[in-house]
Order: sequence, then structure tokens, then C-alpha cells
Amino acid sequence: MTARILVVEDEPDIAGIVLDYLRHAGFDTEHAVDGASALAHLTGTHPPDLTVLDVMLPGIDGLEVLRRARRHTDSPVIVLTARVEEVDRLIGLELGADDYICKPFSPREMVARVKAVLRRRTPPPPPEAVPGALLLDEAQQQATLHGTPVPLTPREFHLLRALMARHGNVLSRAHLLEHAGDGAAQDPSERAVDSHVKNLRRKLRAADPAGHDWIRSVYGVGFAFDPPDAQADGGD
Ligand code: CA
Repeated sequence: MTARILVVEDEPDIAGIVLDYLRHAGFDTEHAVDGASALAHLTGTHPPDLTVLDVMLPGIDGLEVLRRARRHTDSPVIVLTARVEEVDRLIGLELGADDYICKPFSPREMVARVKAVLRRRTPPPPPEAVPGALLLDEAQQQATLHGTPVPLTPREFHLLRALMARHGNVLSRAHLLEHAGDGAAQDPSERAVDSHVKNLRRKLRAADPAGHDWIRSVYGVGFAFDPPDAQADGGD
């Protein structure tokens, strides 16, 4: 299920960048250019899964949009602000914001925040729901691929579980470190994640009769679980 993100920003350049990055990260997007249309989205029958809300808007400003929206929905909101003096109120969540980002901001950081807020709000689907012939045995902490056991270290098992739980999403090394710790790590570095993922990829590819690559590496971002049926991407 693809999360639907509402972007409320009147400045076309900024809105364009934010929308581009979110779509590129696999989200569905909607765009509102003023407070009134933002409220129409937020108080309608299908509020977005998350809203990126600029404070400086024509008409009703972003903070007032948030205040009014909170009477109708607890759908998460990340506020964009260029005014440092607003930050304290936002931090205190007095206005019901889930997070805030100060302008100017890095679009990549913005996408990371969006994912983090969504992750807090939505529990990951059980790994069993992932399509494909790869199954995890929680009790044994092992994986089977097409019925054949894949020998994994505890760290590799936790990495695979984290990747499968958020399949379709590119996960950063930092996310994987946070969610795939086995509690006994001597080497909690992002570089260690690379080497564990590399081993995991190799083992899965070796165990797959078709030799598929089950984990995709995204340069500069991280890794994604990429089962073959998703890779085929054709037909029905
Ligand atoms: Ca603005």
C-alpha cells in the first residue's frame, strides 16, 4: 500500500522539489497551494496518510491549518518553517505537529523524516505478507527460499527481516542499524551494515535457482528488499 502525502506549499520551486523527491521515494502525492485547499484535503473523507505543511501560505497560514485540521484528523503532519521562533512551539507539539523541518532544508532529509513519521504511525506488515518464495522462521531465526534453508547469521536474519518488513522502501543504513541490531553487535557502524548486506545478498542469490538479486542497493541512499515478482514488473 502506497502512502499518500499531501504537500502544502505555495512556492512552485520548493513544492516541485518536495513533490519530486516524494514521488521518487515511491509515495503518491497531492499538492495544495493555500490553506483553504489544504483544509479541504485534511478534513475530507480521505485525509492523506501524511502532510508536509509549509507555515507561510496565502490566506490561512500553516499553523492555523494545523490547528483546524486537528479537530478532524490525527493524520501526521510535518511542518516546514523558515521562522526559528516558531520552532519551540512546534517542538512542544503544542500545535499537534509530528515533526518540523527548518528551511532551507535538504530534500533527502525531508524524505527521511516523512518515512520516520510514517514508521512511527504505522506498524510494519508481518513479514509473511511479503510476496515471493522467501519465508522467515522467527523461532529458528532462519530463512527458506523455495523451501531450501538459507544459512544466516543472527545479524543477517535481522537485516533481512527489517528489509522485508518495509519492502518496496529504500532503507538507509542508519535505519537498518536501528532496526536490525541483534544486541550483540561489536561493530555498530554503517560500514558494517554494508558488509552484512553484501553477505546476505550473496547467500540469497546463491540459494535462488533463478539467481535473482533479492536486495537492491540504491547508491547514496541504502538498500531495498526487491523480490523477483516485483522486479518482473510486467504482465498483470
Ligand atoms: Ca510558502
